[in-house]
Amino acid sequence: MRPYNFSAGPAVMPDDVLHQAAAEMLDWHGSGMGVMEMSHRGKEFGQIYAEAEADLRELLAVPANFKLLFMQGGGLAENAIVPLNLSRGQTADFVVTGSWSQKSAQEAAKYCTSHVAANTKANGYTTLANPASWQLSTQPAYVHICSNETINGVEYHELPDLKALGCDAPLVIDFSSHVASRPVDWTRVGLAFGGAQKNLGPAGLTLVAVREDLLDRALPICPSALNYRTVADNQSMYNTPATYSIYIAGLVFKWLKAQGGIAAMEARNMAKAKLLYETLDGSSLYINRVAQDCRSRMNVPFYLRDESLNEAFLAGARERHLLQLKGHKSVGGMRASIYNAMPLEGVQALVNYLREFESQHA
Ligand code: PMP
Repeated sequence: MRPYNFSAGPAVMPDDVLHQAAAEMLDWHGSGMGVMEMSHRGKEFGQIYAEAEADLRELLAVPANFKLLFMQGGGLAENAIVPLNLSRGQTADFVVTGSWSQKSAQEAAKYCTSHVAANTKANGYTTLANPASWQLSTQPAYVHICSNETINGVEYHELPDLKALGCDAPLVIDFSSHVASRPVDWTRVGLAFGGAQKNLGPAGLTLVAVREDLLDRALPICPSALNYRTVADNQSMYNTPATYSIYIAGLVFKWLKAQGGIAAMEARNMAKAKLLYETLDGSSLYINRVAQDCRSRMNVPFYLRDESLNEAFLAGARERHLLQLKGHKSVGGMRASIYNAMPLEGVQALVNYLREFESQHA
């Protein structure tokens, strides 16, 4: 049995997907070629691409008026690509609830006026600002949120409704670290982007879902290969796409369907998160500081109250085949990322270890 891997990303993959990819490595479906060796314009890859797109559209119930784009550059590149495509050089609003939305607000300032509508830094990014308290600008080109902050462990359990706030700008969500962990309310979204390397597949692939009416707003300086209209009109093949990553993501989509789809994953993810948070809250050794109503179901940061035990904790975890629990360097402590491919048994094994370590250090 493989160890349980709690990495924040690149992250654990479903075993079934890795086995299938290994079996098809040298010869995909009798074509005589591995997927890495195929032209992206050939019929074999065309089939892989079409199935991946259709499966993802079905899984996430993506409406017909949204384009799905398979891009590159990750979430950080989208921090520039979104304002290049949507800002018109005017003002875009940012709700800063952690490290990733903070980076987005900063990068956009190169291309437009970046207005911070709310910022929860003062409480250490442990809450979400109530949308009713956001100081939105008069007519923002778009409003950006990070719907799950991977480092700080803060998640919007419901997407904000901009219309209810009297704002008709499109909502942009960075859903890198919880895409496919729960359904998406597309009626509230104009554009969603996410790197694949947490819940969808390998690094190198960025998913963008963009409403069609937003496709033609790019600044003249927007590089052609990053222009959503150009990417959409060329089925994400204006430049050579990340073919192998798309293939593996396609296998993950088939795996997700076999698991019962996104609603089934959400139920499992909630059960996993509940088990872990209840264990942390019931302990006098560990602490998670995020407010109850916005705790991430994917990324669970926690601290040992006695930080001198950190190294012993991590060493004991490795001995028990529990990997990559060290927190992000900017915040320290520990973090358990429990993406779709982490089974309940993995969280149970972690919980058992948390209790064992606590009883040894009570
Ligand atoms: N946004 C979020 C929410 C993330 O978790 C990450 C990566 N951890 C990024 C953006 C940056 O992604 P990338 O490294 O793929 O550019």
